[in-house]
Amino acid sequence: MFYVKSKIGNSAEINIEITDENVYTRCPICGEEFNIDIQDFLLDKDFDIFGTAVYCENCGKKVR
Ligand SMILES: [Zn+2]
Repeated sequence: MFYVKSKIGNSAEINIEITDENVYTRCPICGEEFNIDIQDFLLDKDFDIFGTAVYCENCGKKVR
C-alpha cells in the first residue's frame, strides 16, 4: 500500500492510505472537485502526478 503523510502542527501527523476512492483533483477550468482512479494514470508512462491537469467530464467534452 501507499499512503500520504502530513504533519499537523508540531506533534500530530496523519497517515492516509491511498485507495482508488480517495484521490481527488480539481478541474483547471471550472474548479469542480472530483474523484479520480490514480491507477488509470499510473499506467500512462508520460503521466506527471505534479504537472497533470485533469478536466471534469463537462469541460473535458469542450476541450476535445
Ligand atoms: Zn470543469
